[in-house]
Amino acid sequence: MKKRYEPEEIEKKWRNFWEKKGYFSPNLKKGKPTFSMVMPPPNITGVLHMGHAFNNTLQDIVARFKRMQGYDVLWVPGIDHAGIATQNVVERSLSKEGLSRQKLGREEFRKRIWEWKERYGERIFSQLRDLGVSCSWRDKAFTMDEGHSLAVKEVFIRLYEEGYIYRGNYIINWCPKCETALSDIEVEYEEKKGKLYYIRYPFKGKENKDYIVVATTRPETMLGDTAIAVNPEDERYKNLKGEKLILPLVGREIPLIYDDYVDPEFGTGALKVTPAHDPNDFLIGKKHNLSLVNVLNKDGTINENGGEYQGLDRYECRRRLLKDLKDKGFLEKMEDYVYRLGHCYRCGTPVEPYLSLQWFIKMGDLAREAKRVVKEGKIEFFPPFWKKNYFQWLENIHDWCISRQIWWGHSLPVWHCEDCEKVTTSKDKPDKCSHCGSRRIKQDENVLDTWFSSSLWPFSSLGWPKGGEKFERFYPTSLLCSGWDILFFWVSRMIMMSLKFTGKVPFYKVYIHPLIGDEKGEKMSKSKGNVVDPLQMMRKYGTDAFRFSLIALKTDSPYIRFSEDRVRGYRNFANKIWNASRFILMNVDDFTPQKKLKVSKSLELCDRWILSRYHLLVERVTSDLENFKFSEAANLLYRFIWGELCDWYIELVKPRLLREKGSRSRYSAQWILYYVLKGTLKLLHPFMPFITEEVYQRLPKDEEDEESIMISSWPKPEGERDEEVEDKMRLLMKVIQEVRTIRSEMGISPQKRIDLHLKATGEDLSLLKKNKSYICNLTRTDRLIIGEDVARPSHSVSSIVEEIEIFVPLKGLLDLSREKIRLKRILEELKEELATAERRLSNPEFLRKAPAEVIEKEKEGKRGIKMKMERFKKRLEEIEQG
Ligand SMILES: [Zn+2]
Ligand SMILES: [Zn+2]
Repeated sequence: MKKRYEPEEIEKKWRNFWEKKGYFSPNLKKGKPTFSMVMPPPNITGVLHMGHAFNNTLQDIVARFKRMQGYDVLWVPGIDHAGIATQNVVERSLSKEGLSRQKLGREEFRKRIWEWKERYGERIFSQLRDLGVSCSWRDKAFTMDEGHSLAVKEVFIRLYEEGYIYRGNYIINWCPKCETALSDIEVEYEEKKGKLYYIRYPFKGKENKDYIVVATTRPETMLGDTAIAVNPEDERYKNLKGEKLILPLVGREIPLIYDDYVDPEFGTGALKVTPAHDPNDFLIGKKHNLSLVNVLNKDGTINENGGEYQGLDRYECRRRLLKDLKDKGFLEKMEDYVYRLGHCYRCGTPVEPYLSLQWFIKMGDLAREAKRVVKEGKIEFFPPFWKKNYFQWLENIHDWCISRQIWWGHSLPVWHCEDCEKVTTSKDKPDKCSHCGSRRIKQDENVLDTWFSSSLWPFSSLGWPKGGEKFERFYPTSLLCSGWDILFFWVSRMIMMSLKFTGKVPFYKVYIHPLIGDEKGEKMSKSKGNVVDPLQMMRKYGTDAFRFSLIALKTDSPYIRFSEDRVRGYRNFANKIWNASRFILMNVDDFTPQKKLKVSKSLELCDRWILSRYHLLVERVTSDLENFKFSEAANLLYRFIWGELCDWYIELVKPRLLREKGSRSRYSAQWILYYVLKGTLKLLHPFMPFITEEVYQRLPKDEEDEESIMISSWPKPEGERDEEVEDKMRLLMKVIQEVRTIRSEMGISPQKRIDLHLKATGEDLSLLKKNKSYICNLTRTDRLIIGEDVARPSHSVSSIVEEIEIFVPLKGLLDLSREKIRLKRILEELKEELATAERRLSNPEFLRKAPAEVIEKEKEGKRGIKMKMERFKKRLEEIEQG
């Protein structure tokens, strides 16, 4: 075993071994209980980022845990075709060749994307392999593969035939850059400082004298105004019924209408009505039978309805129009105004409300059912507070716009008849219109929203609609693991679609996890420059340490504070495990784990203690993993391995391992080291798969051991927790710790051996006497005196642990006069530290500005300094006392 842990080589070895052995895939023949998950499919354009790494580490922990518990585990990996994102990427690479999608045409362009997908689309799979994820690669799925395409067509046609899908002219969110419709949740809102423009609309016939003033943030849309609306209760505008107004610059005659939708408090109380460019105006327009004037082209430039502004970009048009309004006296004033502006979640371009013919799904019934199953507990949310957001969204849901005007994606299984104008739906290309029999039919040019196909993921990736053994055995899935950011996009829609088409929930449990933020808890983004590359972290610190760093941090906020320091810390943890394992392995070379060791009172105190602690660990880690408390489980393991096993137990048994081979004391120490290490490695395996496999392979084998830790059985607590033993050990450890503190505070060099006097009575006395050797070994004590009437030796420092008095004589150990000077100097320094802390804590500026946690830390620091001062003062007094 190498002296240093070198992850790279070890990781590669075991990755290949596991895959070659086929451990990642379920074994359909065994009569085991099943456990299944579908991976949230990354985009084919994706390169492994921190979000993927975190999401998949969580799932991998569950998969490995369940496998070891004896389940037949199916974890389906997959990728999403990611309509808009992929189209953008391929268009960019085309433009480097001087090509464009328009030049290539639809079919050729789609061919190019398929080629691109074959070359780059599965990059992320190999990166996930590096991360150690143990999903069943032979079951991998793609949202555009044959099975999924079939599922998409089946679902679309059934929804259409049952009246859930309809087509209509509506105001949708339009991205002028991606040139497609977006669903409501694909729009991200941001507060923006803008202006409110007050524009004069003259009355017809009184053009130069009388006008109504209208306030707007988007003056360019006035080109599409078809009315001015006021509230019928508004005194300012009474008695104007039947009046006409003239649209400034354009000259179009528009009516004044009354509608109680208008808020008299906003602006001037008069509203310009632009039915083709605002969802609320659209409704008013319908009510009053107003005409629709669309003034925008798909790319956000002004169309022929914009008169002399035709061809201008929407923002250029705004500038020109404002100048003209001002020059001609139509602009009354401008005011600063903060409003919410929607942006495309893909490209960041401000979206336009835009009138167009789109396909929608009615959400009412589907949402109601999705709500019901969660209310009834058929799907459990972890943590449960996410249910609230889920319900809220379902209660306020709008119909889902599912058509996208891009070329990459699932085409609608819909053909339009050029003769009777009716619609024919079909899975395969029909040769004639199903209504009039005409052969002049054309497939709908839209493609479906990417989330339409991914909403079928849990059942389509298992073989629906065809069915089959995989679907029978593994559907509904057991767990879905997803970030909160796609709760609405994805999780809730999967629930709706699964209920509608399989009559079952898609998964019994949902674990919603936070997203990875930077050290300050802020979202990682390219523009902020705070993005961390997971592959680089894995190379630098090892994959196990990286995985552990993602999991170990507990948070209740939406973003986890990730920091490289933590990964470094867990690399040290991996090294600690390596060194401890190496030590144990060197000391069990003559050991064969044939028969079980009987846990009895004849074992030493520390043996019974570590077994008790270990059995408790097994119980707690198991229950935490069952309840998806990943960080709790990780921290229990960390503290047990580093603290109890390495720092205490191994140190305590070292002398026993030096005894002659075959001695009982040596054998029981070997057996316990072997047993506890093996069990702990198994508990740690889901978190740190590589190092645990490497050490497991080197352990002596017994007849029950499997050829890999990955398929070994999950530990069960085989013994009872013994609290009496734990209490005794805790007291001994406290005494030892206190003596060590005295040694370090008094500057006694680690090589020097000391004398130690302990005063105790009753049970404590016999405990100390029985375990004298532990104290001597771990405090480097030569002469240990324990008794009921031990008196303070001269020139000694003292301390008290519970009811035990501790004395360390210093005579001959230290130069006492120099020691006095040293202690005085330390006290001076502490005094200064205390003064600094007090100054800060009495600074009103600091108290007002600093976050509560910083202030609390400062206060805690002050308490710490005070306690230290007390201790050193006492030491100084004791030395002066002689
Ligand atoms: Zn866009
Ligand atoms: Zn027809």
